[in-house]
Amino acid sequence: MLATVVYQPVPDPGSYAAYAELARRGVIVDDAGIPVRTGTCSWCGVLSILNLTCPRSLPCPTCRATSGSPCRRPSEHVLSKGFDGEHVPRRRAAYRLDEARHAAGDRSALLAPWPVDTPAVPTGQQAFLF
Ligand SMILES: [Zn+2]
Ligand SMILES: [Zn+2]
Repeated sequence: MLATVVYQPVPDPGSYAAYAELARRGVIVDDAGIPVRTGTCSWCGVLSILNLTCPRSLPCPTCRATSGSPCRRPSEHVLSKGFDGEHVPRRRAAYRLDEARHAAGDRSALLAPWPVDTPAVPTGQQAFLF
């Protein structure tokens, strides 16, 4: 049986801030077409899609930060939140866990893709979506 392909109901908003707002409003859906639940992540304290694995919940393979601790540069400075505050391998590890959950049949572990043939809307022009 072929799974029905579900797409996001709106085009890619083209900025993280607009995307977060769509998620908060319940517009963003998972791979089963169910609106995602957002809230303050208990691991990183940031508004997040709660069903996805938080990189902060895993140890970091790059800087050896333990679960729950922020990534640090060799200088011990915490990574900027502007770069998600996490080393890329830590984020990839979280993605891999979610991909594995999805492969095992949990359609809530991945978000639906953006609709095809809808280029990203330039930042600042999202108002028409609502
Ligand atoms: Zn988090
Ligand atoms: Zn790290």
